[in-house]
Amino acid sequence: MLAAAAVLSFSFYCDNARAEPVKSFTEQNTMSVLWFQKSGEAKGLYYQGYYLGKMRLDDILRKRPKGKSLKPAIVLDIDETILDNSPHQAWYVLSGKGRPFNWNEWFSRGDAKPLPGAIEFLRYADSKGVAIYYISNRNEAQKQATMKNLQNVGAPQVDAAHVLLQQPGEIGKETRRNQVAKTHDIILLFGDNLGDFSGFEGLSVSERIQAVERNNEEFGKKLILFPNPMYGDWEGAIYNYDYRKSNEEKAKLRKKFLEIYQQ
Ligand SMILES: [Mg+2]
Repeated sequence: MLAAAAVLSFSFYCDNARAEPVKSFTEQNTMSVLWFQKSGEAKGLYYQGYYLGKMRLDDILRKRPKGKSLKPAIVLDIDETILDNSPHQAWYVLSGKGRPFNWNEWFSRGDAKPLPGAIEFLRYADSKGVAIYYISNRNEAQKQATMKNLQNVGAPQVDAAHVLLQQPGEIGKETRRNQVAKTHDIILLFGDNLGDFSGFEGLSVSERIQAVERNNEEFGKKLILFPNPMYGDWEGAIYNYDYRKSNEEKAKLRKKFLEIYQQ
């Protein structure tokens, strides 16, 4: 009887799992994508970050000792820092397909729109003679489409030498940042993910927060951070960076990490 009930409930679960599993999971992102796309607050935060970047750029260049041998450079992430991929995130929500389904199809279109304030800032930095490096974890196969997209939205200095994408077997962005730092003085970094800055890779949820606390004076000074509630290492850390976990396990972990008041 119990066994039969177990089999019954298992098959019921499977039927449900077939009917709705991914969709109900991807639908958890409805609010984050909606916030990113439709809140004035999200737009305002991009303007705020790039305005802060411009002020810091002016300040750093003014105070920089003359005759410094290394040329100043800024390093920027691309996705959700310069280009807006939220239409693709919305597609996940509505289609019920999980990542990375269709990423390539989306990237190859090369028609992501720029985020507020990004292009104006990049053009300003370019006018000041600052080198611009685009360091993204998109892969080499996506390079032409990525450069075309950046050029289409008017980003300056977009060429093979300034767009540094992830190499096979490479983890994180530190190697490419170090490569830039050999010939340039990196004065500012921009990103929507802590991994866009040094020292935040592969940390647990609490370690990431502690690392931010330890480096809190760098934010708004050397590191400019944008909001991305849709995805990122903050989410990966919740799953211990194992995205192969089932949606059910991921959903459980999401709830497990919520802090609730004592009742
Ligand atoms: Mg990004």
